[in-house]
Amino acid sequence: MCHKVSSALKCWASPSDNQNISIITIFSKIIAGEIPCYKIAEDDDCFAFLDINPLVKGHTLVIPKREVDYFFDLSDEEIAAIQVFAKRVALAIQKAFPCRKVGQAVLGLEVPHAHIHLVPMQSEGDMLFCNPKLKLTNEEFVEIASQIKRFL
Ligand code: AMP
Repeated sequence: MCHKVSSALKCWASPSDNQNISIITIFSKIIAGEIPCYKIAEDDDCFAFLDINPLVKGHTLVIPKREVDYFFDLSDEEIAAIQVFAKRVALAIQKAFPCRKVGQAVLGLEVPHAHIHLVPMQSEGDMLFCNPKLKLTNEEFVEIASQIKRFL
């Protein structure tokens, strides 16, 4: 499995590591298509999909394909690329789910694969990660993803 994932991904240790060690996260398996997700967008370096425990409808995760745990271990070029990619996704989220602004957060305490949370906000309270998460059906997730993708 590691072989399959690493061939499908840019999967190597962070620049700060001197070792060439692959660690397979759940997000790498999503990129490789081994675990399902509600995909929003993808390019050579980045991938976006709906958070399975959303704070609000439209809550999306943006990840680098290269498997790095800590967001700030990404290179300057990778951070620039993921932010430009996240901007495109955020503007589509805002059109699909009209809101005051799309908030962005980097936590990474649960999944050791760098990611940006994009959350359409009506108020600051929408960004509180201790809030109860929405329980959505498969049909609702599919509909949300298709609404966002219409604006990409
Ligand atoms: P954190 O690492 O604290 O930023 O949180 C990780 C986020 O990933 C949480 O909001 C989870 O709901 C989300 N998450 C974990 N597994 C999946 C998955 N298989 N598909 C979509 N989102 C996920």
